[in-house]
Amino acid sequence: MSEVRVRIAPSPSGNLHIGTARTALFNYLFAKKNNGKFILRIEDTDAERTSQAYVDNIFDSLKALGLNWDEGPDVGGEYGPYTQSQRFDIYPKYIQKLLDEGFAYECFCTPEELEAEKEEATKNKKAYVYSKKCENLTEEEKAKLRAEGRKPAIRFNVAKAQKAFHDSSILEFDDLVKGKLHMDTDLIGDFVIMKSNGAPTYNYAVVIDDALMKISHVIRGEDHISNTYKQILIFEALGFEVPRFGHLGMILAPDRSKLSKRHGATAVSDFVEQGYLTEALVNFVALLGWAPSDGEEIKSIEKIAEDFRINEVSSSNSIFEYDKLRWMNSHYIKMLPKEELREKLKKYLIKYNLSELTEEQYNRMVDITYEPLTLLSDITDAVSYFFGGGNVEIDEKAQAELDTELSQDVLKSFVEQAEDWEWSEENLHEKLADFRAKFKEEKGYKPKFTMWAIRAAVTGRLCGADMVVTLAILGKENSLKRARAAIKTAVV
Ligand code: GLU
Repeated sequence: MSEVRVRIAPSPSGNLHIGTARTALFNYLFAKKNNGKFILRIEDTDAERTSQAYVDNIFDSLKALGLNWDEGPDVGGEYGPYTQSQRFDIYPKYIQKLLDEGFAYECFCTPEELEAEKEEATKNKKAYVYSKKCENLTEEEKAKLRAEGRKPAIRFNVAKAQKAFHDSSILEFDDLVKGKLHMDTDLIGDFVIMKSNGAPTYNYAVVIDDALMKISHVIRGEDHISNTYKQILIFEALGFEVPRFGHLGMILAPDRSKLSKRHGATAVSDFVEQGYLTEALVNFVALLGWAPSDGEEIKSIEKIAEDFRINEVSSSNSIFEYDKLRWMNSHYIKMLPKEELREKLKKYLIKYNLSELTEEQYNRMVDITYEPLTLLSDITDAVSYFFGGGNVEIDEKAQAELDTELSQDVLKSFVEQAEDWEWSEENLHEKLADFRAKFKEEKGYKPKFTMWAIRAAVTGRLCGADMVVTLAILGKENSLKRARAAIKTAVV
């Protein structure tokens, strides 16, 4: 087999969508599995819908996911992507070839004329296909229309190409994912391949680029199947080798509608902003349509690449289960090297004065708070009580606990006795154990109630991180100040 070359070809009309990330990943995996090349091409022929900020976002998101592309113009030691707007001088040459060989023709119809044709079709309850009004214009007629100031668009002659390369109007191809697919090309109208302003359209530019970039396999969403028939005909008309196509099922929201912002994040950068790890995102999207042979779902991109087979990808739609992604993310948070985790979490702690803590205290705080995190951003709330010195906000449940006689009793003893304690983790561990045991012995208070009283006063909550370590990090002064404040404010 000749070299495997695949590509991801996003249009920069938005930030990199998680669905495009999945398509990129499957292409990347296919390339890795087959010692091939993975290419990035920015399809920005539609200047109005395109922005540089989106191009940069696509770039950064793919890199963050580890989906590095293999070639493109050199931009100082690394590859830039291929960009269609920088290739505009390439496209007209092949238009001329199609015109010369009768596979394309100039169309002078105005938008109003085309609109009228469409209305007529709607009126007659017919699917619209272009009337081919301009197919056989003579040179004289064309000259006259030009003299009127009309600029032609170029249309592809579908029937002409179909007849030249196929026995009937049926066009068939063998999809890598979906098996044999076919369509009656009589239903495809002669479509525009170059607009009157000289801009190539998607279906045309994509063929020229795929051919010139020697793309061997085109793997993309099934929403492109209808385009594939058009593209095959252009490949054939230009005498280019037709690549293999593989169409992936769509990604749907849990309610089975199209995944959109109302369901949650959809752009890779939004997921990252919300505190998802790129490793979790990659692992999760790999499972949208593909299943590991050993049933083990948690896998690095390298392990997935070893196991990936495009013909095993499911041809049906996949449901984007946000809950599963969250579960996976919490798993990846636990697996992250501590150093990396501590750095990553800082981004979500900017509202606090981190200088209240020494580096050692910060590290210890992360040690005792990271395990229950689902998103990195959950850390913001999880550690709020480590800040604020001697003051802490008390939530409703903690306040109810503090209002009990038992809690008041515990806190009064606590502030009295703890004043003399040496404030190290080790010692606090011992002292608190004795403290609880004594209350149990003398008054029959269950140890957990004793600790709740202290926790409620010092952290303002009933649940949270290890109490001994929390007290140690907060220090004696702040801890006791909070405990005293709880005694004063309590309604006994
Ligand atoms: N620019 C197209 C898109 O973003 C690419 C489709 C293709 O892979 O050919 O949908």
